[in-house]
Amino acid sequence: MKKISHWIDGKVVEGTSGRSGVVWQPATGEQQASVDFASVEETGHAIAVAKAAFASWRSTNLSRRAEVMFHMRELVDANRKEIASLLSSEHGKVLGDALGEVARGLENIEYACGVPNLLKGGYSEQASSGVDVYSIKQPLGVVAGITPFNFPAMVPMWMFANALACGNTFVLKPSEKDPSASMFIAELLKQAGLPDGCFNVINGDKVAVDAILHHPDIAAVSFVGSTPIAKYVYETGTANGKRVQALGGAKNHMLVLPDADLDMAADAAVSAAYGSAGERCMAISVVLAIDSVADALIEKVKARIPNIQVGSAADAANEMGPLITGEHRDKVAGYIAGAAAEGATLVVDGRDGAPGGGFFLKPSLIDNARPGMKCYDDEIFGPVLMVTRVKTYAEGLALINDNQYGNGTAIFTRDGGVARQFQFDVQVGMVGINVPIPVPVSYYSFGGWKASLFGDQHMYGPDGINFFTRSKVITSRWPDPATSTVDLGFPTNR
Ligand code: NAD
Repeated sequence: MKKISHWIDGKVVEGTSGRSGVVWQPATGEQQASVDFASVEETGHAIAVAKAAFASWRSTNLSRRAEVMFHMRELVDANRKEIASLLSSEHGKVLGDALGEVARGLENIEYACGVPNLLKGGYSEQASSGVDVYSIKQPLGVVAGITPFNFPAMVPMWMFANALACGNTFVLKPSEKDPSASMFIAELLKQAGLPDGCFNVINGDKVAVDAILHHPDIAAVSFVGSTPIAKYVYETGTANGKRVQALGGAKNHMLVLPDADLDMAADAAVSAAYGSAGERCMAISVVLAIDSVADALIEKVKARIPNIQVGSAADAANEMGPLITGEHRDKVAGYIAGAAAEGATLVVDGRDGAPGGGFFLKPSLIDNARPGMKCYDDEIFGPVLMVTRVKTYAEGLALINDNQYGNGTAIFTRDGGVARQFQFDVQVGMVGINVPIPVPVSYYSFGGWKASLFGDQHMYGPDGINFFTRSKVITSRWPDPATSTVDLGFPTNR
């Protein structure tokens, strides 16, 4: 049985806690590895190693730090398939989807290659007579990333690329469900020339997370996961004096207006709801259909569902893989079972005919979902698409704005004026106009509103650079004996 340990100080380090977890192969339902769970002491050791590496790494010049990122860019590019097959094996997503994840992660490494430009400060010459003022951005120290199971390569890349390029050292605590991509990334960073100790991987569970949140040498924590844990990480981390950004769950709505191209809207809804078996924080989970087109739209979605090939990544024809664990599959199936009892209409039941062996469900479609039903209120995180019928644009907008989450949303319409009004009104962090999964490119920043993000800075892009640096402003005057005098008044510049 494969054993996955930790990566500390540039090498694999066996766990000593005696605790471990199961890594499943979701497509077969079998255990494929065990992963060591770090103790408080092991986590503290990784943090101490990262702390020791910080002084030298932050002093490394910008060109060299950028060069390491360029090398890493080349290595990830060359190993796309290798990384993607690890993702498919442990997460279950099909190969095309896994390659897409690697590509979107790679963008963030490419962005970090521009770090000499990104860290430029401002300079004001002659702010006062003979006085110049300028600002610089400095790294924070040892920073941590805590990541979810659903993007085991991309979400770590959202974090470590900017964090390292800015001169921080890093401790990653990946999801215990699919940790191998992080271990492989650690090897690639070493090959890219990153000095040992700058990037460490601690595998584990709440014990390791709590050790990070309470450790005095952790300056900042970047978290992505479910809302209850995001809130806990934010509250605990900030109570311990750390800078924290904690991205949480989602319930993304897609509003379809009567003037939309209904075939395009149906294609988009099906792709965004069932891709990656719905285990994406930007998946569409609710279609808000205006009454006059609801029946036609549901028919079009329903007609597309039987064509979706569900199965393991081993067969390139498959488009949707299994869920992450048997427990999660059963939880999702519970929402499908409960929907009819709550008064919704089960149009397509994905429990029927799912492939055996692994943790599979087929796509489900539920009509007449309303707030107050569990299937509507909760984040299901599975291949289940709900339809909620609304009478007007305003009713649809109100449902989105009343939702506790505000990660992503989309509007489908041909009316530019309405789309612009939607962009103005909607209380959501990432908005698609005829784009169902509006994940920002790496030179913007990713983040939701409301219960989808705790903290002030979004993830990656310009916010990522801000999050992983703090600014310092210098007011400087060079000695000029000719103008020197004693003056006890408050310095003014006019
Ligand atoms: P999760 O919250 O269960 O786990 C996330 C991380 O927290 C993991 O590393 C896990 O080990 C750790 N963790 C779990 N329970 C903990 C506890 N009690 N105390 C301390 N740490 C704990 O999330 P998940 O199931 O791995 O991922 C799916 C969730 O992540 C979904 O809710 C999804 O919407 C969300 N997500 C959000 C985004 C976003 O950008 N907003 C992106 C991806 C995933």
